[in-house]
Amino acid sequence: MIIAAQNLVTGDGATLLKDGAIVVDKGIICEVGLGREIMSRYPDESVVDYGKATILPGLFDMHVHLGYYYSQPDLDNYDDFLIAYYAAKQAETAFTQGITTIRDLSSPHNLCKQLRLAGEKGYVTIPRLIHTDAGICMTGGHGHTDGIEQVDGVDNIRAAIRRQHRDGADWIKLLTSHRSDIPEFTQEELNAAVDECHRRNIRTAVHAGTQPSIEMCINAGFDTIEHGTFMTVAQAEKMVENGQAWTPTITAYTYLYEYCRKLQAEGGDLSNPVAAAAARDCAYFEPAARAYRDNFKRLYATGVTVLAGSDMVLYGAPPMPINRELGYMVEYGITPLEAIRTATVNPARVLGLAAVTGQLAIGLTADVLVVGGDAATDIAALNDVKCVYFGGKMVYQSRQ
Ligand SMILES: [Zn+2]
Repeated sequence: MIIAAQNLVTGDGATLLKDGAIVVDKGIICEVGLGREIMSRYPDESVVDYGKATILPGLFDMHVHLGYYYSQPDLDNYDDFLIAYYAAKQAETAFTQGITTIRDLSSPHNLCKQLRLAGEKGYVTIPRLIHTDAGICMTGGHGHTDGIEQVDGVDNIRAAIRRQHRDGADWIKLLTSHRSDIPEFTQEELNAAVDECHRRNIRTAVHAGTQPSIEMCINAGFDTIEHGTFMTVAQAEKMVENGQAWTPTITAYTYLYEYCRKLQAEGGDLSNPVAAAAARDCAYFEPAARAYRDNFKRLYATGVTVLAGSDMVLYGAPPMPINRELGYMVEYGITPLEAIRTATVNPARVLGLAAVTGQLAIGLTADVLVVGGDAATDIAALNDVKCVYFGGKMVYQSRQ
């Protein structure tokens, strides 16, 4: 099968082919090049020509919580069965956003392991799923009301990592800051967590949004810093030296800021605990949203590896809005091709999947997204998902 369109973005952050095409055979990309040339070389292949659209690699969402049902209005209904259905639905929905690989950064224990197994068995059709199982916070720390495992002390942290890895976690996630400047884990605990992971070749992500938690986590050596909301340029430079990556999650904080501003202006239902917490923390989200807007370009310019992650868990919010995340990055100063890179080749490398997916390149899996318009000049093209192929198989097609 040949897939062709007027624009083809390979995902490496630089390459755009005009009138490009790929050849897909048995789920693998076996040619990438100019459409006319490819069609003359493969005259017998069927051709799907998307005209003025853009073909690009299937996207990654590097910060997802498939099983976070905590802001649903009818919480009482959510037993393990309904949570599993909910997570499966979330995972399916990712395809409609052009997402073909998800890193889940904490969901209820065992949920992602079983969801992935259900996918392998063909019970559900979902994106590629990398996960951290339940995540780890200190007793009473950030996320403890959302099913995160509460652990204190160096030895217990090592034991929790061993347990979660035994139970299927691909990565380990710690949470060490909330909406204040008080770090939760001690430096000793953070260092031990990274040491336990790295000596066993496990990669590790950490929720750190404020100072000095960000500094402590960079020094501890975490592979990805999640949020890094108030990160400084000097810290980003240190991350470059250390080979650490940053998942800013701009959309989540900007959405929460707009959400609580609206609540303040118009009032609203605060019976839901997640909504009530958002309203309470408006004073945090305002400077948080501003920090992303004011600092993103300068932080990006250090060369730090940026990863696109949506982290959207609020009831009524758009699911996995990776299009918005890339939209903010462009609004705050980088090019569409650079933004697309944060959801393609960058995450593929960080996850160790660069030989599998993340680019339109010969030998990689045919995870392919087709969007209306020219995504290389207008990132809003990502809002118009036409078609998604996962391993060469069509998993989503828009009705228009
Ligand atoms: Zn999160």
